[in-house]
Amino acid sequence: MSMPKNQAGLVIKQEANFYSVAFEGTEYLCTMRANLKKGGRTIRVGDRVRLEDLHEERPVISEILRRTSALKKPAVANVDLVLLVMSGLNPDFNAMLVDRLLLCMLYEKLQPVICVNKADLIDEELREWIEEEYGVFPLVFVSAESGEGLDTLKEILVDQVTILAGASGVGKSSLVNALNPDIDMVTGEVNEKIGVGKHTTRHVSLHKVHHDGEVGWVADSPGFSNVKLPPIDRAELSTYYPEFEPYLGQCEFDDCLHDHEDGCAIKAHIDTDSERYYNYLRLLEEVKTLYKQRRDSSTKDEGLTKRAVGKNRKESVLKLGTEGRARSRRTQKQVIEQISNWSDFDEESLEAMNPDEWRI
Ligand code: GDP
Ligand code: ZN
Repeated sequence: MSMPKNQAGLVIKQEANFYSVAFEGTEYLCTMRANLKKGGRTIRVGDRVRLEDLHEERPVISEILRRTSALKKPAVANVDLVLLVMSGLNPDFNAMLVDRLLLCMLYEKLQPVICVNKADLIDEELREWIEEEYGVFPLVFVSAESGEGLDTLKEILVDQVTILAGASGVGKSSLVNALNPDIDMVTGEVNEKIGVGKHTTRHVSLHKVHHDGEVGWVADSPGFSNVKLPPIDRAELSTYYPEFEPYLGQCEFDDCLHDHEDGCAIKAHIDTDSERYYNYLRLLEEVKTLYKQRRDSSTKDEGLTKRAVGKNRKESVLKLGTEGRARSRRTQKQVIEQISNWSDFDEESLEAMNPDEWRI
């Protein structure tokens, strides 16, 4: 028996050549059909798949449905949400890290939810400040310790595949455990003893979160912790700020970067004393520098490629390096190539750093 035509299972775990697939409340341990394997197809956690021989001892994955996204780190397909976990205190709430991660996520077209953990430790003033700064995004205050906000968080997570992002020590493992008491993720001190590489020696899995009869899935590996900015143009940066959106296009000068008073509609309307705006200015400088670096290295490549493989290749190199090319015009392939470039800056390198060094 195979599953009905319009239905699919969700790959939640992979071990060697076996895949756990969740379908209608049951988990099936499956193998991959030989012709898929021969065709070089790979299955990732998060993949939607069709199963055959459902009632046999070992159902077979007969088809992998088209992915809506394919993150490399963590290797999860079809991610709907990224839960950006920060602690309100201990370690301190780090606005610059939040802003950088938001930029990375929005660039990937992933939907961010800001989750401020350790709410049991923060005072009303800090809570209000975070709300003022980040209320433009979905925002939830929780405590893995006291249980505060966990129901609200579950409501957000049902029907979605979610990955976590955030520095170590903010309580990601504690949260995953609190959301699903069946999982026993290593937290706190033990985590430090095991050290770097804990999450890289095995595949990521998805864990079930129940709420009101509905189910959501959360990756157990905190993976999305890029601090390196994506390759965007300086003029594009402002489009990643939802609070700027009502005023975009209203500045007197078309090339306004919203860093000067002069005719700037955004500066006239938003709170320029906010941390978000201050960080915008800092990120703008960084985006400019990165752009210059990319331009310089693409000029170098151009010389090399010209000699090495001739005209056609040279044109494609030039195209990739051109500022002002709208993101919407990029082909899917180019986006994936770029992702694989910069998301290599991953949790391993970050975990090797002291969390304090992240405070940029
Ligand atoms: P991770 O590195 O992000 O996975 O963080 P852990 O889950 O390992 O948590 C780091 C430390 O913060 C541990 O000592 C936890 O007990 C503590 N912690 C986690 N969540 C909370 C919380 O909501 N409130 C308080 N007070 N401590 C927490
Ligand atoms: Zn402006």
